[in-house]
Amino acid sequence: MNLARLIVAIIAVLPPSLNAQQPAHHSKQVSTQTSESMQKMVGDIFVNGQAYEYDRHLADEIGPRLTGSANYMKAAQWAQRKMQALGLANVHTEIFSISAWEPDGPAIGSITMPFGHELHIYSFPGSPSTPKGGISTKVVHVPGITRAEIEPVQDSLRGNFALVDRQSLPANLVDVDLMQVMPLLEEFGVKGILVGDLLPAPIGHYENGIEDPFTSTPDGSMLKVPTAQIGSEDVQLIHRLMEQGDVTVTFNFKTKIRQSVDVPQVVGEIPGSQYPDQIVLVGAHLDSWHPGTGAQDNGTGVATVLDVARAIEAQQRAPRRTVRFVLFGGEEQGTLGSISYAQHHRDELDKFDAVLISDTGSGPVLGWSTMGRNDEQDSLQAVEPFLHNIGSDRMDNSTDELIGSDHASFVGSGVPALLLSTDLTNYWSIHHKASDTFESVSRQNLMQAVVTTALTAYAIADSEDSFARHFSPYEVRQMFQENGHEAYYLFAKKVGMVP
Ligand SMILES: [Zn+2]
Repeated sequence: MNLARLIVAIIAVLPPSLNAQQPAHHSKQVSTQTSESMQKMVGDIFVNGQAYEYDRHLADEIGPRLTGSANYMKAAQWAQRKMQALGLANVHTEIFSISAWEPDGPAIGSITMPFGHELHIYSFPGSPSTPKGGISTKVVHVPGITRAEIEPVQDSLRGNFALVDRQSLPANLVDVDLMQVMPLLEEFGVKGILVGDLLPAPIGHYENGIEDPFTSTPDGSMLKVPTAQIGSEDVQLIHRLMEQGDVTVTFNFKTKIRQSVDVPQVVGEIPGSQYPDQIVLVGAHLDSWHPGTGAQDNGTGVATVLDVARAIEAQQRAPRRTVRFVLFGGEEQGTLGSISYAQHHRDELDKFDAVLISDTGSGPVLGWSTMGRNDEQDSLQAVEPFLHNIGSDRMDNSTDELIGSDHASFVGSGVPALLLSTDLTNYWSIHHKASDTFESVSRQNLMQAVVTTALTAYAIADSEDSFARHFSPYEVRQMFQENGHEAYYLFAKKVGMVP
């Protein structure tokens, strides 16, 4: 998940669409034949499931997969070979372009005044390198994110380090608040930016050395001044020391920024037996942040997609519709890969029956999040009896993660899109952190994710009826508004999630 939470300006009201589609009629039971295949599939996943091994390979043999990095490319090649070996049809990659950012070696930094103290530090995503030898100066706290809040301290910020922490941000709209404050700090002439301790307890409250990168620009563009991410307790220490007097800090790192890097997204299919031009898309993002190895964000999602492909293929009874498996890039930079994918497939989107996205780690699976769509909740009743005994039949209609992952790029076009819903209690201690490594992955929970996704995808793809109707642009906007997410809508529109 990229945890995009947003604050943006007002735009003009859209006219109501004239082409709203008729509701789909849905029988809330799968056919006998579909049911037989689904039952066989559960047994196959329990006995032959490979998801845990797929995840191990991604996390421990390939490692962190920053979009566009050599490791990402390696992972894309591996996934493509895997899809071919599984016997999927039409295996290929689709390219989008991005400014690729990576750390070039480790970051170092310390407090130098009032006493020497080593910092837990990473270069912040999108940051340029520091000048050779590093940079040192006084730290000044940023009291808010708006021009009006920052202007009173602009003279003290100029030439110094700006410290952005939880106390700088309203509520917990982390990504969007950062996106808003970074250009202002650059404009006010800061020498560098220190970011950390952004999330409210208990989410962000973890030991020093566990960092929390977020995307800081809405379009994947780069920052202009050296920006460092420091440990949560480091930030709180600096904050307390600043109440006593001046605090100076030094830091030093190199980063690598390459413009217009072609990023492959990996695609494979099981062609439908009756309606091959109708699509059920099962997807996850292949990219990860760098502090950990992305075992849960989103190794588990990728492993789920690949094992669902394996399990459906193993049935040797293709469902009526085509199941298309897609591994996206650039999710952590703002769902850039899936936005590009949806844009390139614009003409085909009306044939997408449903999109199923996996991106919530390896906690116990609860069911699916339907993003405020009651009709989807109704349709899912057909699959619930199959999920009851493994506990993943608790469908959730919350819109909290409306734009939190790649489903958003389809929701915005009115396509019925689901996000796998898991218990997130333990997720925040690894999300985007150095602790997102393979030993934190639960084999049982991962298998539950595969069973849930495979059964749901198969039931939808093999049904005589369509899963749910497509929303018109007017209804999409209404759905965001009715759930109190006008700000999400405006952001989604700005970045192209909503066409
Ligand atoms: Zn993710």
